[in-house]
Amino acid sequence: MMERYRNSIEQYAIAKELMPGGVNSPVRAFRSVSRNPVYMDHGRGSKVYDIDGNEYIDYVASWGPLIVGHAHPKVISFVQEVLAKGTSFGTPTELETEMAKLIIELVPSVEMVRMVNSGTEATMSAIRLARGYTGRSKILKFEGSYHGHSDSLLIKAGSGVATLGLPDSPGVPEGTAAQTITVPYNDLEGVRIAFEKFGQDIAAIIVEPVAGNMGVVPPKPGFLQGLRNITEQYGALLIFDEVMTGFRVGPNSAQGLYDVTPDLTTLGKIIGGGLPVGAYGGKREIMEQIAPVGKIYQAGTLSGNPVAMAAGIATIQLLKEPGVYEELERKSRLLAEGMDKNAKELEIPHHINRVGAMIGFFFTGEEVYNYETAKTSNLEYFKQYHGYMLDHGIHIPPSQFEGVFMSTVHTDEDIAKTLEIQYEAFKALKR
Ligand code: PMP
Repeated sequence: MMERYRNSIEQYAIAKELMPGGVNSPVRAFRSVSRNPVYMDHGRGSKVYDIDGNEYIDYVASWGPLIVGHAHPKVISFVQEVLAKGTSFGTPTELETEMAKLIIELVPSVEMVRMVNSGTEATMSAIRLARGYTGRSKILKFEGSYHGHSDSLLIKAGSGVATLGLPDSPGVPEGTAAQTITVPYNDLEGVRIAFEKFGQDIAAIIVEPVAGNMGVVPPKPGFLQGLRNITEQYGALLIFDEVMTGFRVGPNSAQGLYDVTPDLTTLGKIIGGGLPVGAYGGKREIMEQIAPVGKIYQAGTLSGNPVAMAAGIATIQLLKEPGVYEELERKSRLLAEGMDKNAKELEIPHHINRVGAMIGFFFTGEEVYNYETAKTSNLEYFKQYHGYMLDHGIHIPPSQFEGVFMSTVHTDEDIAKTLEIQYEAFKALKR
C-alpha cells in the first residue's frame, strides 16, 4: 500500500517542515485516521485523482462546496470568462448584485446580504451584528457544533446543561469564552434553563439547523421552532448557520425545509462554488445596522470578489434547474439505504442520519441526536473503514464527525460501486 501513495508520502514529508502539520487546515492532515494525507491533483465530476494517479469516487466535495461535482463545465467556463477580465477591482461589480439577488430569492430569511470570504467570517460578523443590534453580549451555541474559529465560537461545551463556556483553544481569552453559553444539541429544555438564567444578556442563539460537525444530526421535530419561540420571547436573535446546509438540504436551505425563519443566516461553501466565499444576511432592519449605513463595522478587501461570485452564481444556477433536489434526494436515499443494508447484513452496530444530500453513518447502535450520543461511535472501526475505502478508491471525510456529501453528478453506478466496496470494508473490520 505504501507504493500506492508514494508521491503523496514524499510531498507530505516536505510539507511538514514548511507548514504546521503540513497543512493549511488541521483535518486535512488525516491525524484522526492515522494516515498519510492524500494529495489531490485534479477532479472531474464525481471523481478526484491524486498525484499518484489513483482515482476516487469523491464524497468529501471539498467539505461541501462542490455540490455540482468537480470542474463542472458551466462553472469553469463562467469563471474563465470573468477571470479573463481581471481578478479584483476594489469597486463594486455587477456580479455581487446578481449573487445577492439569487440568495435573497432563495433563502427565506434573507432580505439583505453581505458577502465575506469564508464561513468563519460570516458567523463572526453575524455575531457582532447580533451583539451590536441587541446591545447584549452573550451568545448561546450548541455542544459539538462548529461555526468556524472566531474567538466567541471556539468554545468547548461544559458538561451538563447551560454551563458557561471554557476556551476550546489556548489563545481564546477566558473573558470572551465566558460570554458563550453551550447547551446540548436538540435540548430545548436546556435552552429554556439558560434563558431563565441569562435571558436578558443573550444576544443570539447560533445553531446549525442540521448539525453537520458531529456527523450528521437532524433537529428533532419542534426543536428549531422552539428556538424561534424562545428567542422571540426574550428579544434575542436567532441565527441559522447554514454554511453547510445552505443549498445542500434543499433549494431554500434548511430554513425552507423546516419552515422556520431565523433573523440572520450565515452561508458559505456552496455559494462560492469551490472558491473562498461566505455571506451573512437577514432582516433589512438588522442588516442596515452594518457600515456604511449603520455603525457596526465589517469590511473586506476581497469580499464579493468577481471570480468567486462567478463560481457561486454558476453553481446556484445549476441547482435551480428543475428536478435537481429530487434527484439528489433519490441518490442520497439510495446510498443511505444501501449502507444500512450492508451494515445490517454484516451485523455492524450502526446508526444512520440523513437529511437530503448529507449522510451521517455512525458506528454505534445508539440513536444519535447530539454530540454525546455521536461520541458513542466506535472510532477504531471508523479508522479501519476509512482506510479500506481510501485504499479502494472511495474518498470519504477522514473523520467520524463529518458527513458524506452527495453531488448532482454522482451516478447510480458510482453508488453501486461505493456500496460494494463498503460491504468489503465492513467485512474486513477487525472485531
Ligand atoms: N459553520 C459551519 C456550519 C461549518 O460547517 C463551517 C466549516 N465546516 C464553518 C462555519 C466555517 O466555515 P469556513 O471553514 O469556510 O471558515
